[in-house]
Amino acid sequence: MALTGLEIYKQLPKTNCKDCGFPTCLAFAMKMAAKQVSLDKCPHVTDEAKAALESASRPPIQLVTVGTGDAEIKIGNETQLFRHEEKFHRPTAVAVKVSDTLDDAALAERAEKIGCLAFERVGTQIKVNLLAVDNESGDPAKFEQAAKLAAEKSGLPCVLMSATAANLQRAAAALSGQRPLLYISDPTEAEAAAKVAKEESCPLAVRADGLEALAELTPKLTAAGVEELVLDAGTRALKPTLEALTQIRRLSLKAFRPLGYPAIAFAVDADPTMQAVEAGTYVAKYAGVVVTDAVEPWQMLPVLTTRQDIYIDPQKPVAVEPKLYEVGEVGDKSPLLVTTNFSLSYYSVEGEVEASRVPAYILSVDTEGTSVLTAWASDKFNAETITQAMKTTGIEEKVAHRQVVIPGFVAVLSAGIEDESGWTVQIGPKEASGIPGYLKNQWKP
Ligand code: SF4
Repeated sequence: MALTGLEIYKQLPKTNCKDCGFPTCLAFAMKMAAKQVSLDKCPHVTDEAKAALESASRPPIQLVTVGTGDAEIKIGNETQLFRHEEKFHRPTAVAVKVSDTLDDAALAERAEKIGCLAFERVGTQIKVNLLAVDNESGDPAKFEQAAKLAAEKSGLPCVLMSATAANLQRAAAALSGQRPLLYISDPTEAEAAAKVAKEESCPLAVRADGLEALAELTPKLTAAGVEELVLDAGTRALKPTLEALTQIRRLSLKAFRPLGYPAIAFAVDADPTMQAVEAGTYVAKYAGVVVTDAVEPWQMLPVLTTRQDIYIDPQKPVAVEPKLYEVGEVGDKSPLLVTTNFSLSYYSVEGEVEASRVPAYILSVDTEGTSVLTAWASDKFNAETITQAMKTTGIEEKVAHRQVVIPGFVAVLSAGIEDESGWTVQIGPKEASGIPGYLKNQWKP
């Protein structure tokens, strides 16, 4: 939680000695509150004041880092209960589980499949982030071997899950330097697991039966030197898990330190469809990590789509660059379709043009990232802006015809565009899904 200038000032020596380069301690405090100067510029601050300021300025939800290098993922450090109040900052890490009871070949195959669970959506790659290795066998040697194989074959950072701290030690040592998330399922082993996490410099996820038990447990683990914790309230059914995730978020934002950590949730429904629904629900409602068995693309795509939608900035329209795009091997007879530069509008059109296999030009008009009807209603998508975009992108030199296809919802613009541009307007389908049929059956240059 950000501190005010006065809160910082109370902790300063108040001697106005100017050694920090500011005329008074208050001036320094105000600059520090604005994050324009750091505390180390004051050489006279006491250790107690330093500790108090660092503790008070700690984010309400601890930042936790899993993995290293390009695959590193950060969770936590959220500041809001409701996305529209600002935005959610760190997308839920989605983990798919493998059991160490699988033989090497089956485990390697599943790990490779999980590592490839990625999709392209609205110009962005969305993918699974973590592979959760479950020590279902209870055997330390099998767990160690499974961890090594899973990490190697998937290329993903791991969550190492066991009921035994000693087994976690074996697997964590096998992945030394890769910073896996250690998950201890037996609360009585949590303090022993904290020692392992400290030795291996790994974050630690702990399970306890309920929030009160968790709140009693976490101070013991931080006292053991592990700051990066992830919380499992022990629930598995949808409703209690949703309640626990919400309570953890609410309490942590009220600066209740014992629960100021990201939470982990497990989607476990026996029905594969319901399991994907569970995972998507936990993504939408506050989980820092979701662990699921949902390994099929049809299960994972809706989960990752939900995450992508929840973690965009609601105050910033998602836009593509306004310009002329070429889809396929375009020529001088290729159709010209007009849309806005709202990402979802553009990629819906692009996807349907690709599906039609009719090469086409798509003109994305700058509407400040708003959709067709919104832009039309606010007069950003009109005859002038469309004609201007056509002129500045040089489409006249690229096609021999003079036909432009506009979305069916704005057919009312056709006369104005014809007057402004001199081109003939063809009225396209209202929905992007109608584009393939339109291009194949109705479009004529
Ligand atoms: Fe105050 Fe420290 Fe700056 Fe001196 S160096 S004026 S004590 S903030």
